[in-house]
Amino acid sequence: MGCLFCNIINGETPSDRVYENDSVYAFRDINPQAPVHILVVHKEHTKNIDETTPENSHIYSDIFMAVKEIASQEKLDNGYRVIINNGSAAGQVIWHLHVHILSGKDNLGPMISNG
Ligand code: 5GP
Ligand code: ZN
Repeated sequence: MGCLFCNIINGETPSDRVYENDSVYAFRDINPQAPVHILVVHKEHTKNIDETTPENSHIYSDIFMAVKEIASQEKLDNGYRVIINNGSAAGQVIWHLHVHILSGKDNLGPMISNG
């Protein structure tokens, strides 16, 4: 079975693109949890942080340089939250590493729910 985010990167699955460069693609989440909810993915597929190696660790600098660019482009001047759900207990449902950018209101609330 194919990977949804690889299919979004290659254009097979449509998405609302926010930013793209040679290594990174960013698009709006289909089910936003804040007024601004952007997903940032690397074009090189890894499942999540568990697959990090010295050879592929550039993925993180590529992603976070893009996060900075996107924050500037989208004028997230009051701040934004960055989340990686790593593994099933964290709620990861798409097994292609992705960073959530959440913003667009004055207070994003507590970092984690006390459920
Ligand atoms: P996770 O829970 O794995 O960290 O986050 C997956 C995210 O992908 C969820 O916030 C979900 O709304 C989003 N998502 C799932 N399918 C699609 C899709 O087809 N298009 C877009 N734009 N977002 C999706
Ligand atoms: Zn993928």
